[in-house]
Amino acid sequence: MKDRTLLMIPGPVEFEPDVLQAFGASTNSHVAPGFIEIFGKALQKMREVWLCPSGQPFIMAGSGTLAMDVAGANLIEPGDKALVISTGYFGDRYSDLLQRYGAEVKCLSASVGDIVSPEEIENELKTNNYKLLTFTHVDTSSAVLVDPVPIGKLGKKYGVITVLDGVCSVAGEEIRQEEWGIDVVLTASQKAIGVPPGLALLMVSDNVINNWNRRSPVRNYYADWNNWLPVMKAYEEGKPSYFGTPPVNHICALYTSLCHILDEGMQKRFERHKKTGLAVRKAIRAIGLEQLPANMDISANTLTAPYYPDGITGQKLITEIQKAGVIVAGGLHPENRDKYFRIGHMGSVNKADILATIGAIETGLKKCGYNFETGIGVSTIQDIL
Ligand code: PMP
Repeated sequence: MKDRTLLMIPGPVEFEPDVLQAFGASTNSHVAPGFIEIFGKALQKMREVWLCPSGQPFIMAGSGTLAMDVAGANLIEPGDKALVISTGYFGDRYSDLLQRYGAEVKCLSASVGDIVSPEEIENELKTNNYKLLTFTHVDTSSAVLVDPVPIGKLGKKYGVITVLDGVCSVAGEEIRQEEWGIDVVLTASQKAIGVPPGLALLMVSDNVINNWNRRSPVRNYYADWNNWLPVMKAYEEGKPSYFGTPPVNHICALYTSLCHILDEGMQKRFERHKKTGLAVRKAIRAIGLEQLPANMDISANTLTAPYYPDGITGQKLITEIQKAGVIVAGGLHPENRDKYFRIGHMGSVNKADILATIGAIETGLKKCGYNFETGIGVSTIQDIL
């Protein structure tokens, strides 16, 4: 028997074999013509995946937190007012991060499993002259999905720069950056983008990039767009350029994965994630477990967050699920992290992965003594997918 487990956490996820081959190929020079072409094409394909034809893409070595940092460092100056919409752990992180750059931050926090309504956001925007608004499309700690459409509109109405943390959503949840008027959409490689951890990816609207002028230098040397903008532009024009050595293997893997994503097509990909998310939520409900998001309308399609049944300890259940061949993740929300677990289902996840995952969860629950109709979760998946 192969010693193989399925990685179903909310990132990193399972990756396509040819993405891993590109990642593991011998490393080219970062100024070799072949690599320049791949880097340039990856930047162009990002615009198609983000649905932002006139945006400025950035590919940098780092994780999702660096992508958040890059937006914060470049767009905030001491004394600027920033509004953070928090639906969990990562919203709170953005609040801390922006304060480091001297922002006066107001954080509107949703209660666990809920959202902040567009009306509340608008009321706050009316009272203060905000420069920046950040929100988390899918907060990976709560599995809550925020609708970017009203927030994009409010950003335009009040002249506020909108930043969408899409680390757990880009290339999974529906995002139409340009049509929806979101200024910055950022992510990392290890989730629905489908590349091993190590890339920070941002798309910045032409409006923000063309009007970007500051009173003071960017307070983060590495993150400064003055250093990276010429590099991104040069590679897209087929010319080498240097500020810091680009992560060559990561970028080759990114190019391969972006090709897969676009071969599937964005609309189909959004629909597949919606259907998968719905199937998992319904299967979990059929098994009898409650979930963190308050209702289906604000539930993410990239991950699911079920509460443990009464009397079952988290670590025991997660260990039993793993013994049945599937790795899931524990909770992360600071208020109730010991009460729930998380199942990631994004990127190239397929029906067989979902069946195996729900089967392993049923097996784990049985082993822990939970009473339910065996097979009800699996048959729910079979009916929907
Ligand atoms: N934002 C969200 C919504 C995330 O899910 C994560 C990672 N789980 C981050 C930011 C931070 O990304 P990273 O761990 O790659 O730094």
